[in-house]
Amino acid sequence: MLVTVLGFYGGYPHNGIGTSGYLLQNDGKKMLVDCGSGVLNALANYMNPTDLDAVILSHYHHDHTADIGVLQYEWLAAKKEKLLPIYGHTQDFVNFAQLSVDNATKGIAYNDYEPSEIDGMKFEFLRTVHPVPAYAMRITDKNGKVIVYTADTTYFDGLVDFAKDADLLIADTNFPEDVTGRKAHLNTKEAGTLAKDANVKRLMISHLPQTVDAETMLSQSQKYAGDIPVVHAFQGLEINV
Ligand SMILES: [Zn+2]
Ligand SMILES: [Zn+2]
Repeated sequence: MLVTVLGFYGGYPHNGIGTSGYLLQNDGKKMLVDCGSGVLNALANYMNPTDLDAVILSHYHHDHTADIGVLQYEWLAAKKEKLLPIYGHTQDFVNFAQLSVDNATKGIAYNDYEPSEIDGMKFEFLRTVHPVPAYAMRITDKNGKVIVYTADTTYFDGLVDFAKDADLLIADTNFPEDVTGRKAHLNTKEAGTLAKDANVKRLMISHLPQTVDAETMLSQSQKYAGDIPVVHAFQGLEINV
């Protein structure tokens, strides 16, 4: 599996770089995991967006879905015979309904009690703790390689089991370590500790803040991750799993 970062800021784009979006390529299939602001522009540097095989959305906050509407227009304009499948949860029926547009895209429901088979990969979902329903993803390819994406979440114990032994953990790391207490995202201490407790092979911190530099976020996370290699997301970062 090859992951390419198309956008990594939390909340809103910054300095020409967008919010959450990851291109996932495996066995000739091309999938988009989350589709935030600026992601469609970034995606076009790698492929024609109308050649996507699927989109999988963690939740319906705008920083993860802002470019879905324009992606649907691009598919509509391309007059493709195939509808683009967009996977989303159904805990919010209004937003789920908007994933389907006639002659362009089709919303497909996932849930957290049975895995979804998407383009030859197994997607398992776990409801996170966030102000709106959001789902972490555990993605397994046919060789048994595993990517876990926390989506947006505050820290909770279930994340450790869900991320266990993953080859790559992509963690929502929106806060430095001194931001504690009730919050909607992980801080660097929690992301690093999660990577260590789950014994993952690599950690990518993402969903980064605009106001704290990435190197600071990285060194804080690394301190808690111990021997596990940590990278911070940046535009165009590619990780082969
Ligand atoms: Zn977010
Ligand atoms: Zn969110």
